[in-house]
Amino acid sequence: MSTDAAANGPAVVPAASLIPADAPFPKAAKVALGMPQLRSNLAHATGTIRAKRANVVGELDDWERLRDAAAAIKADVQRRLPELAVEFERNATAAGARVHWARDAREANEIAARIVREAGAEEVVKVKSMATQEIELNEHFEAEGLKAFETDLAELIVQLAEDKPSHILVPAIHYNRDEIRDIFVQKLSRQKMGGDGVATGLTNDPAALAEAARLHLRRRFLSATAAVSGANFAVAETGSLVVVESEGNGRMCLTMPETLVSIVGIEKLLPSFGDLEVFMQLLPRSSTGERMNPYTSVWTGAREGDGPRNVHIVLLDNGRTDVLADEVGRQALSCIRCSACLNVCPVYERTGGHAYGHVYPGPIGAILAPQLEPGRHDDLPYASSLCGACYEVCPVKIDIPEVLVHLRQQGPHPAGERAAMGAARAVMARPRLWRTALRAARFGSAPWRRKGFMRRLPWPVSKTALSKWTASRDLPVPPQEHFRDWWKERER
Ligand code: SF4
Repeated sequence: MSTDAAANGPAVVPAASLIPADAPFPKAAKVALGMPQLRSNLAHATGTIRAKRANVVGELDDWERLRDAAAAIKADVQRRLPELAVEFERNATAAGARVHWARDAREANEIAARIVREAGAEEVVKVKSMATQEIELNEHFEAEGLKAFETDLAELIVQLAEDKPSHILVPAIHYNRDEIRDIFVQKLSRQKMGGDGVATGLTNDPAALAEAARLHLRRRFLSATAAVSGANFAVAETGSLVVVESEGNGRMCLTMPETLVSIVGIEKLLPSFGDLEVFMQLLPRSSTGERMNPYTSVWTGAREGDGPRNVHIVLLDNGRTDVLADEVGRQALSCIRCSACLNVCPVYERTGGHAYGHVYPGPIGAILAPQLEPGRHDDLPYASSLCGACYEVCPVKIDIPEVLVHLRQQGPHPAGERAAMGAARAVMARPRLWRTALRAARFGSAPWRRKGFMRRLPWPVSKTALSKWTASRDLPVPPQEHFRDWWKERER
């Protein structure tokens, strides 16, 4: 062990450097499945959040009615999106904000970088935001000579580790406390940061870790003149933006700097302020398992002597209007990014977020990523057992299994699948033929029962062959007695 490693703990290897981001999901998932520490961290964290959520959701008698209300509001927004976006622009502008429209990631990044440069800033502090991750704002800023500092604790850990987020709400969910301690000691040491830096004796106690982050972030907040945020909701009726968070670091970004740029996906619109009543009951319970999150910031335009003087709002499309055109797939735009579907997904719990190769992992990623980037991520709709747990917990009632099946129908299919399904349909539609097929199957099933016989389809395993299906499961053995025979016998 080197002297450095002995003093600072072993270097933490970022998961993103081990799990290939551009690989198809099955390949990336296989790598993730071979990382026992990652799986153990994920199982512990998702299990804890699941239990907390179940407790607080169980307290509300009207939970199902709240879900219905949220789904109805979101469906209404999707029907009236252009009208609501214009209403939001009008009201936000009247309140003193400047509203910009960005067709795609490139436009949004250019607008944000231009505003920051015009404000004379070279650094920005950031509120946790999925939209800015989606458009890779940090990478764009870096290429432009600007620096974006994450201030959400979990985002900060990921940024310091030079890793990628693996969860929507808890981006550092794949790290345990020991690993976070090692990251802080290595990246925020006194050697690097001076007197306020982290001492090598830092423990893995949560309070000590939070204090180390607080000292580091305080310096950033006090020196930053510009900030970047996203928003959980954008209220058309008033032109207000809403950020829901737990730590208060977001509020520091939203109130201290002179210039604020908020990048907001157009699907975040809500018609009226009163609609927040529904979502503010659903979101904290579904995400962190709290009755109410500690900090909810609402701001409307700019006001002298109260928060940033220059408020810019970038309304981001980036593929959303194309998703809207698909009557089944558009449900994905109702997502409020609570992460409840990730925490219950048996696939996500075992692979983590990096394997999905997209900023939106888990069940929501499996339906959103292929729609936002058509032609890419075609394998993600198959990253599911269709167990339906995601639908059960989704606070806005997105029928994720329905969209998964819908997307599977649109994607590439194994060669021969269409012919096999056509043949099955032809047989099942003719009762006499179906009875004959059942008798033939029963007759032929005896040798199948012998151990090892015909457990796999005999053709070579390839990406497109039907035998791929039996490469990971046994071919079902036809039963000796069919339902029809059993019924006939029973009637007799
Ligand atoms: S799909 Fe539903 S459960 Fe999943 S993150 Fe979005 S709102 Fe939450």
